[in-house]
Amino acid sequence: MIILKFDEIDTYDFRFKLRGPQMTSDSIALVTIKPSDFVKIFDLKTNSLINVNESNEISDSFFWDQTIWHDLLKNILKQNPKSVAVTLFFGDNIGQTRLNSDDLAVFKDERIFWATNSRELEKLSLPFATRPERTNIAHIDLLRDDDGVVRRLLMNPNYLPNIAERSVVKKTSRLRNLPVINFRGSEKFASIDLQDILKNKISENFFANKFVFIGIEKTVNSQILTPQGLIPRHEFWANVADNYLANRFIKKMPTLIYVCMLLSLMILAVFIITHYTQIISLFIFLSLAVLWSAFSMWTFDTYYIWIPIASPLALLVLIWVMYLGYQALRIEQAHNKLQQEQRYIFELEQLKNNFVSLISHDLKTPIAKIQAVIDRLISQENLTPNLQTDFSNLKIYADELNRYIQSILKVLRVESKDFKINKETADINGVIENVIVRTEPLAKSKSIRIELKLEPMFLIEFDVTLMTEVILNLVENAIKYTNENGQIFINTTETDTEVLVSIRDTGEGISPEDQTHIWKKFVRGKNQELKTKGSGLGLYLVKYFIELHGGKITLKSELGKGTTFDMSLPIESET
Ligand code: ADP
Repeated sequence: MIILKFDEIDTYDFRFKLRGPQMTSDSIALVTIKPSDFVKIFDLKTNSLINVNESNEISDSFFWDQTIWHDLLKNILKQNPKSVAVTLFFGDNIGQTRLNSDDLAVFKDERIFWATNSRELEKLSLPFATRPERTNIAHIDLLRDDDGVVRRLLMNPNYLPNIAERSVVKKTSRLRNLPVINFRGSEKFASIDLQDILKNKISENFFANKFVFIGIEKTVNSQILTPQGLIPRHEFWANVADNYLANRFIKKMPTLIYVCMLLSLMILAVFIITHYTQIISLFIFLSLAVLWSAFSMWTFDTYYIWIPIASPLALLVLIWVMYLGYQALRIEQAHNKLQQEQRYIFELEQLKNNFVSLISHDLKTPIAKIQAVIDRLISQENLTPNLQTDFSNLKIYADELNRYIQSILKVLRVESKDFKINKETADINGVIENVIVRTEPLAKSKSIRIELKLEPMFLIEFDVTLMTEVILNLVENAIKYTNENGQIFINTTETDTEVLVSIRDTGEGISPEDQTHIWKKFVRGKNQELKTKGSGLGLYLVKYFIELHGGKITLKSELGKGTTFDMSLPIESET
């Protein structure tokens, strides 16, 4: 509400201060009279001394002197002004002094307008020179705002016109109530002192075709506080007359148009925040605010149209704040959802692990028993060859099942929270050689040649059991997925920071679509189900163990040509 108050038309003073020099109508002239002009005369005539400069309460009637006014008006009228407005109120008691016909002719000249004491007809005291049809009188009432500043004009069709309107407007054109005065700045009108007129010290056509405003110089009771400071009464009315003549009262934007503008601004703002990122929106909002303010200033300066600034800016700020609130809400919602999903996934994973572990543990004992029974059966001597092969097959299946269960249990173990790796200082080449010894028989059975090229290396820290698992898995896979008479190359090298192991085979290769998936738990090559046996856990564990050491593993493979696994382990271990 406080912000909106800034848009009230009575707080527009700062705009006056901001704008540059303004034009004024050149058909207005001022006549300024001073209390001292009258003191002298009184002094001479009545010998009564009034110290004018000390007196704050000199009323308009103080300035009445039949001769002076007669001469003054006569001199002005001689030059054919359009009108002469007397902004002092001389009530009819003043006219008690005898007026001869010459005086009357001057005072009641139809070009002269006299100020009355009130705009309301009931309260009216007529000026002494009022014509019967009252067309030569006008009010000089002011509408002061709470701070004593006059910004607007009192208008009412039932009242008398004001003195500026009376003297410059031909047909009474009724402005809407309370037009806002467009002050032009102080001392903008041509002005002349009463003494100069009386002494005929005026240029010949000073008043010709002019609207003349006569008033007292700036003294306490004849000054008016305006947004541009204190100005004398006749200058004030000259400002109003200028507004009438150039039609430059400050106009308020019609409410309907203004509401439409605000609405468009709102739609635009909503469009911006829904289509652009936060930072761009903020930038556009700021530009909009600056543009709106500049536009408002420009219309005020050029067309005297008042377009509020504070409420549109408040609107933008409001939309922005609401938008931020909405964003925060959305982020919180997304966060909650994510947390919920994570919890759900975690629970699911736990459920699955529990289930798998339960089943695996329960299967371990029966399998072991089956294996024992088979072993016993095979060792019998009097078996027919058929039974012999059946039992050997049974043994193979039982062993496979056992391996499968073992690897599941291994995965469960390494994934459990209390699984720790036991690092020790060792040589990775040693691990490889050890694995080769273990896998040699398997390789031989397929006539696969394994070639080692191991660079001598520094000892590094790693978990020997896990790394043996890794290398074993990779070598076993290389043998498993390579046809008879194939080759396997194992190389090791080191850089300043890493130890690199590469295991290449000339096997069947891995299809591109399989390459990304085979690292996952229980995932095997697409067409391996029919060809080979396996759990799909090997590579998952390989990657898992290497990453536990802070290392990396990648693969390059081409179908029919072979596969290379490249792994790296950091020399400086992080833990
Ligand atoms: P498994 O060997 O038990 O299937 P792995 O996780 O060890 O499980 O391997 C996953 C899949 O990756 C295999 O099923 C296979 O298709 C593919 N694979 C792994 N190593 C090789 C290799 N050296 N050559 C070709 N394919 C491979």
